[in-house]
Amino acid sequence: MDFQDYKGVWVFIEQKDGAVASVSLELLGAGRKLADKRGVELAGILIGENVKHLTNTVFEYGADTVYVYDQPIFKHYRTESYMKALLECSDKHKPEIILFGATSTGKDLASAVATDLPTGLTADTTELDVEEETGLLLASRPAFGGNIMATILCKKYRPQMATVRSKVMKALPPQLGRTGKIVEETIALKEEDIRTKVLEIVKATVKKVRIDEADIIVAGGKGLGSYEGFQLIHQLAETLGGAVGASRDVVEAGWIDHAHQVGQTGVTVTPKIYFAIGISGAIQHIVGMKNSGLIIAINKDKEAPIFQNCHYGIVGDAFEIVPILIEQFKQALS
Ligand code: FAD
Repeated sequence: MDFQDYKGVWVFIEQKDGAVASVSLELLGAGRKLADKRGVELAGILIGENVKHLTNTVFEYGADTVYVYDQPIFKHYRTESYMKALLECSDKHKPEIILFGATSTGKDLASAVATDLPTGLTADTTELDVEEETGLLLASRPAFGGNIMATILCKKYRPQMATVRSKVMKALPPQLGRTGKIVEETIALKEEDIRTKVLEIVKATVKKVRIDEADIIVAGGKGLGSYEGFQLIHQLAETLGGAVGASRDVVEAGWIDHAHQVGQTGVTVTPKIYFAIGISGAIQHIVGMKNSGLIIAINKDKEAPIFQNCHYGIVGDAFEIVPILIEQFKQALS
């Protein structure tokens, strides 16, 4: 593999319902800095059906070139079809770096592409830079429970790949009317080549929750053990007339919707009372709730960092303590 053949920084442009995902715009901002430092082009790779008009947005947010696959087969995201397009395009144009949003689509696609190429992939990167002498991508992310920052390099393979969560990087202010080069690509891919069929898309009906406006928030973490265990949080919130909050790990486990996530990549809240139950107290959670009026933590580990960030701490099992609290509050409020 001759590294000299690989040039340029690419961003996978995620799109849905006729709009570019905000994480892709943020990555164009990050990618622009990397491309300028390397003295190379920044390109977007846009895959979908009826998406060509989105190239305008991609240029306005910093790209020089957009590779576009606009075909009916790409109407819905499917790992196989999108992966094939990306692999083909990467093989043809040889970028040195490809960035993806760490969304469910981005994570799925990036890992499939990295496996097939094969190359390395750094997930959930929080800082991106390039080493001047070597041009290597420096992809940094918290490791060991956030206690250290690890900088991960991909020395032996190209392209170098990373996923980045939304709201970690900053989009550049759009330059309205800015344009660039559109490279239209097509792939000879038939519907029968793809094993997955999208039969129907059912949109989740999520109740709009405004936890940033609630006076009382009962937030639960991974310590609740399961979706069923997490229902205890709903019961306590209901008893107190409060809103339900959650740590990111709970949202990622699918126990509750992202609208309930408190923290760096969720909502910042300042209720009068904040219960943190079965939440360890990672810094990314603390930044989102530390200004609450009264913080009450329940955790079975007396060393949990949450106890450094609360007014009252109860060391014990949530499944023993919370039912007692519900009972007592019900009586007091009746
Ligand atoms: P864990 O860390 O697994 O903690 C579970 C806790 O429950 C433990 O302390 C355990 O002692 C306790 N426990 C277990 N069983 C019981 C029981 N029966 N009773 C009582 N206690 C029990 N996190 C966020 O919350 N919000 C964010 O916005 C956020 N953004 C992030 C952004 C980035 C870039 C990164 C890298 C991370 C982010 N995180 C965020 C993740 C964060 O680092 C932690 O991984 C996460 O907060 C941990 O969630 P948790 O406390 O629920 O789970």
